[in-house]
Amino acid sequence: ADDVALDPWGSSSVSDYRKLFEEFGIEEFDAVLEEVPNPHYLMRRGVIFGHRDYRPVARALQNDEPAAVLSGFMPTGDPHIGHKLVFDEIIWHQQQGADAYALIADLEANSARGMSWDEIDEHARNYLLSLLALGFDPEAGELYRQSANREVQDLAFELGAEANFSELQAIYGFDGETDVSHMQSVVTQMADILYPQLEEPKPTVIPVGPDQDPHVRLARDLAERMRFFKVSEAYASFELEPVERDLVAEFHERLEPAEFDDDTLRCVHVAEALEEAPLSELGIAADVLRSVLTKLTEAGMEPIRPRTRFSDRRATEEAFDALIDAIDGEKRVYENHIDAFEIDRDEAEELARQVEVDTGGYGFRPPSSIYHRFMTGLTGGKMSSSIPASHISLLDDPEDGYNKVKSATTGGRETAAEQREKGGKADECPVYELYAYLLAGDDDEFAKRVYDECVGGERLCGDCKEQAAQLMKEFLEEHQEKREDVADLLEAAEIELES
Ligand code: SF4
Repeated sequence: ADDVALDPWGSSSVSDYRKLFEEFGIEEFDAVLEEVPNPHYLMRRGVIFGHRDYRPVARALQNDEPAAVLSGFMPTGDPHIGHKLVFDEIIWHQQQGADAYALIADLEANSARGMSWDEIDEHARNYLLSLLALGFDPEAGELYRQSANREVQDLAFELGAEANFSELQAIYGFDGETDVSHMQSVVTQMADILYPQLEEPKPTVIPVGPDQDPHVRLARDLAERMRFFKVSEAYASFELEPVERDLVAEFHERLEPAEFDDDTLRCVHVAEALEEAPLSELGIAADVLRSVLTKLTEAGMEPIRPRTRFSDRRATEEAFDALIDAIDGEKRVYENHIDAFEIDRDEAEELARQVEVDTGGYGFRPPSSIYHRFMTGLTGGKMSSSIPASHISLLDDPEDGYNKVKSATTGGRETAAEQREKGGKADECPVYELYAYLLAGDDDEFAKRVYDECVGGERLCGDCKEQAAQLMKEFLEEHQEKREDVADLLEAAEIELES
């Protein structure tokens, strides 16, 4: 069970992905794959195996609606082929139309890993060059360094007001010895994750390894908290028709909000009721609304309409009508009210965000995430930046890359005869992973052929590694040439690389 302890700064590997689904509520990516337009090969091959709430992002890409992707890199060493997975994920989302953000997590590298600023400067440049060489478009997207982004720092400060020490202790195991900078790097990271939504709320995906999930969960929580805080502040500005005052009074009796005066009463209509009520209290909100509707009908009046101050009146009315339908159609049984309201939840959520943005808040959507498998080290075990033979750096001399693949462990049998008879164990082979994660590129047929030939006993490890080693050498040569070509792009992007 230790294997599934998720520690963003630890060295834990995740050996049993299934447990992540059960214990942490990460959903299987396969379940959402069909909704993804032109899925990336990492998605098709199950390398991206899990997600949290990815549907809104897939839907936005599908419909050409605003969406964003963001991931950060802690510059603690050279970028290697494991990091390439994340580069690919960012670039793919950018190519599908998402606003793309890549950041250098220099504060985290300094506070959580103790890297000096000089080391950070050097590594930061290397990460960004590889990202650009792989196809990131810096004009359409944004690259930044945590410490140099003032807006991120300001947002981090605000988010810090929503979190406290006990919470960080529970999530990250912080204790009395944890330094304050480390805690500050956590809220900075939360601000990074929400930064793409600073101007306007939009579905945002954070591609990460499963060990980063604690950050995602905290960011999702904080997004919610920021939202309710701002929305409740906004209530006071709504004015009511006299005829609605009884209803307001009843509403307030049930939900016990702060006091209100006769002239500027707080609002009562459906959207607010839903916003004010946490999900667990939707039943109360629904109950109040039903009595509101009954009273209005008895008095021979039309049900109250939403206020025109919402920027999108039609969406507001539609959401309102859908809610009335849900109640009128008696879809709601008291015990089952949450299910009954599920149908309107997306709309109600959207409405809550709109109100908030209209009244000067952020309206953050809880960020989504996708999770990729860790690559196995070439020497077996976890691929680690600190063990050179276990990984291939994107800066490795192509000849060294070739040699590392040639010396990699395989899922092969003791003898060639046995391999021909029983087939190789591609599923346990780091060399096969190289094909599936990188060397086969977009060519599914090629990846499948390697797999089938291996398990069918037609492919022997010597030749298989020779082919992989050759492809790796070519990949590195090409990648490094591109890195030189994009040096100008990096200059032009004017990122503050020096601390
Ligand atoms: Fe791995 Fe290739 Fe050997 Fe199969 S044939 S076990 S894929 S090295």
